[in-house]
Amino acid sequence: MEKVIIIKYGELSTKSDNINFFIKTLKNNIEKKLSGISFKISYDIGRMIIYTDNIDMVLNKLKEVFGIHEIMVGYIFKDKSIEKIEENILALIKNIDFNTFRVTTKRSDKHYEINSIDFSKIVGAYILKNTDNKKVKIEGADLEIFVEIRINEILVYFDGIKGLGGYPVSTLGKGLLMLSGGIDSPVAGFLAIKRGIRLEAIYFDSPPHTSKMALEKVKDLAKVLAKYNNNEVKIHIINFTHIQEEIIKNIPNYYLITIMRRFMYQISAVIASRINAHVIINGESVGQVASQTLQSMEVINESIKKPVLRPVCCLDKLEIIDIAKKIGTYDISILPYEDCCTIFVPKHPVIHPNLKTALEYEKLIDKNELIYNAIKNETIININSNNKEYQDLL
Ligand code: ATP
Ligand code: MG
Repeated sequence: MEKVIIIKYGELSTKSDNINFFIKTLKNNIEKKLSGISFKISYDIGRMIIYTDNIDMVLNKLKEVFGIHEIMVGYIFKDKSIEKIEENILALIKNIDFNTFRVTTKRSDKHYEINSIDFSKIVGAYILKNTDNKKVKIEGADLEIFVEIRINEILVYFDGIKGLGGYPVSTLGKGLLMLSGGIDSPVAGFLAIKRGIRLEAIYFDSPPHTSKMALEKVKDLAKVLAKYNNNEVKIHIINFTHIQEEIIKNIPNYYLITIMRRFMYQISAVIASRINAHVIINGESVGQVASQTLQSMEVINESIKKPVLRPVCCLDKLEIIDIAKKIGTYDISILPYEDCCTIFVPKHPVIHPNLKTALEYEKLIDKNELIYNAIKNETIININSNNKEYQDLL
């Protein structure tokens, strides 16, 4: 008997047109995730089977792969005689603690001499005869024993663990995540990856007003996201110091944040187009701060055409924190380093900015030159979930 891992696909099984593309992408993503481990994969339209000697290690890694609905440990054997199947199943359930059970059979080998319903009954009767005090229960049994009669083999498995769900990373293309050191943006990134978007990140750095540690924090967050993002997140680091200083020098205090964020958006849109990202993603949440009122969002969003996804926009802070804790970004996010927005926050930022006024103020500085220079001085680093970062060689 060979122990294997069985994967049931997530939502992708409903996308009938793209199903092969989705499954192949999932297979590629799993291969990347398991690099360094020896394994073999076979798959069909309904499931994937992974053959490996490192079952536990693979199981742990698969918990971080999107596009998987359920992960099960199963057993494969070649002898399809009913006697051998009964014997094997009995051996498998010997150490499982249960009172009630049911057998569910699927017969993909239509030439097999016993049909599925009879087969379940025969195996069920055998288990009753060879165990003590067990009962069959059709609904809500403690143990459901799944048996698949396949062309070349028998596959037996039990209830599995839940996978992450979502779509395989990359199936929807690329997005650029505005990644700050806060709680919200890493969660937004995670939720975007869940929808099949492969992420790159952009971070606006303001040395010396922000410390080196603030950047380290962003790298650590990217490293957590990388686990879900095919092991890698590329961070585009934009030095924002000069732009911020110019804004502070020239623009009335209460519009600082509005204009600053319009700059962030515009730079993000340029980078997004350059890397073929279809959308920008950020951690804005309606009503959370002055720049996230509907009026603010409208005035800020007006600066670009690229669509902006805000996966956490309608979640409560506590709901966002909940996800942050689950995915492992919360403890990093709450480290106390300032980010570029918190440093220059005016006491009374405008809550209901006006587009006309914002456009007037923006004319007070040389916007295009500032954006051009900021992008010219971009640095790119690759964060890898396994190894340390490396400077991009391109
Ligand atoms: P977060 O908790 O994610 O920092 P926030 O509630 O503090 O969000 P803001 O500081 O207004 O809100 O930022 C809103 C969003 O803008 C962030 O979620 C993030 O996507 C983006 N953002 C803010 N600052 C930066 C930065 N320095 N670099 C990149 N993106 C940023
Ligand atoms: Mg923030």
